[in-house]
Amino acid sequence: NMKIAVVGSGIAGIASALRLKAKGYHVEVFEQNNYTGGKLHSFRRGDYRFDYGPSLFTMPQLVDELFGLYNIDPKSYFEYKRKNTICNYFWEDGQRFQVNADKNTFIKEAAKTFNEPENNLSDYLKSTQTKYNLTSRLFLEKSLHKFSTYLSKDTLKAVINLGKLHLDNSLNEVNERYFEHPKLVQLFNRFATYNGSSPYKTPGIMSMIPHLEMNYGAYIPKHGMHDISQSLTKLAKDVGIIFKLNQKVDEILYDDKKIRGIRVNQEEQIFDMVICNMDVYSAYKSLLKKATPPKKTLEQERSSSALIFYWGVNKKFKELDLHNILFTEDYKKEFDHLFNKKYFADDPTVYINITSKEVNGDAPEGCENWFVMLNAPTNCGQDWSAQTTYIREKVIAKINKCLDTKIENHIEIEHVETPETIETATASFQGSLYGTSSNDKFAAFLRHPNFSSKIKNLYFCGGSVHPGGGIPLCLLSAKIVSDLVPQA
Ligand code: FAD
Repeated sequence: NMKIAVVGSGIAGIASALRLKAKGYHVEVFEQNNYTGGKLHSFRRGDYRFDYGPSLFTMPQLVDELFGLYNIDPKSYFEYKRKNTICNYFWEDGQRFQVNADKNTFIKEAAKTFNEPENNLSDYLKSTQTKYNLTSRLFLEKSLHKFSTYLSKDTLKAVINLGKLHLDNSLNEVNERYFEHPKLVQLFNRFATYNGSSPYKTPGIMSMIPHLEMNYGAYIPKHGMHDISQSLTKLAKDVGIIFKLNQKVDEILYDDKKIRGIRVNQEEQIFDMVICNMDVYSAYKSLLKKATPPKKTLEQERSSSALIFYWGVNKKFKELDLHNILFTEDYKKEFDHLFNKKYFADDPTVYINITSKEVNGDAPEGCENWFVMLNAPTNCGQDWSAQTTYIREKVIAKINKCLDTKIENHIEIEHVETPETIETATASFQGSLYGTSSNDKFAAFLRHPNFSSKIKNLYFCGGSVHPGGGIPLCLLSAKIVSDLVPQA
């Protein structure tokens, strides 16, 4: 029986393990932490439960598919529900807007609130769908680094429709072309942050992202986000995948350009194949020191990071839902600080995620578990303690202004994560959330492929390689890896 070692139990590592086990391999997953899930895990403070990282769940069918590999009804492990309200938006001038999950209701309400012709909204949503349909099979579901990908009908369709993809404009330029109202432009510019990029730099093709949320929907797992990684871990164990926790892999071993195994705790273990789920940049720096690094790929700008306040709040806020955004007054300045100046601007956009709105037991009676996240520059050695003190005050001021409250009087528990601590906990280079950024129109082609062209039987999955970061793309990377690996 051919043996595979998966390095890292992030969502893509677990998904790859499941797919390769279903192909008949013996699979062992090595994880440096004492829990599985990587960025997708959870912790408790007092009577509150918090999801550590991801909060938005789209394309749940990609998770269901993994249960399908074993003819198991996903519901016996993992349940989720579709949200009727996608997100609440707040501005300092008192303007509020709730995005309804029903597309037609959204169009009507947005047109009315922002005094925008309905056609502008429906045309925009149609164009986001067109972009997704033209490119998803090509850019997201296949390896971009195999010649056969370019000989397909999908490529031809994309090439013929190149103009519709808006590759030569920034997302902001495309949004300004569709919408009159600056707040609507801002609302749609925010989607650049879904892969840690700037709307002023990322190409207009990224306006396909709202399609995922607005046409496919936003979901919440019954027990919170960590339920995604935990129910998949349970499935994996049930089908015979072995998890080795607290086992940091030190080296990926190969002879004559072919995988021989891994070194863990000074000990060599023999494997026929290695799937690396560790951030690819960190992997070349630490596990593949002797290999020639793919210089151009590793030089790419990283996606943004985050600073998160996890607050136990002893009050309930009716005006808030699961996802809430309190917008900055100057979005351009915020992104200039994120990607150029590398420290916080004085007026950040504040994202508040509250799972206790949907998940029983996440907060005590009459209280809420707030996950308050700011997009942050990547970790380049800034003084995060000083940055945290500075920005905490601004965040509180923003919340108080938008929600007319005194939130500082209601915080009874606090935990903070910074780009630096995210880097340490997940081995993500510079603490970036989504691998390399998409601030360049060639970013998709410069991401690391899902296989090594130098070392046979070495594959890569996860947010730092093709097709990119975020749970859905990580799950697709596992699918691509599995398609590249022959049947056992
Ligand atoms: P990771 O989660 O990066 O895990 C890699 C694993 O490898 C870790 O467990 C690590 O410990 C392990 N590892 C590393 N080195 C070694 C070694 N040498 N030996 C053994 N194990 C090792 N995505 C969304 O879809 N929606 C969101 O709303 C969202 N919000 C986010 C908010 C935050 C704060 C963060 C941090 C991320 C967010 N993301 C979101 C992104 C999403 O979390 C990631 O894209 C995804 O979880 C990455 O999964 P991965 O498979 O690449 O592995």
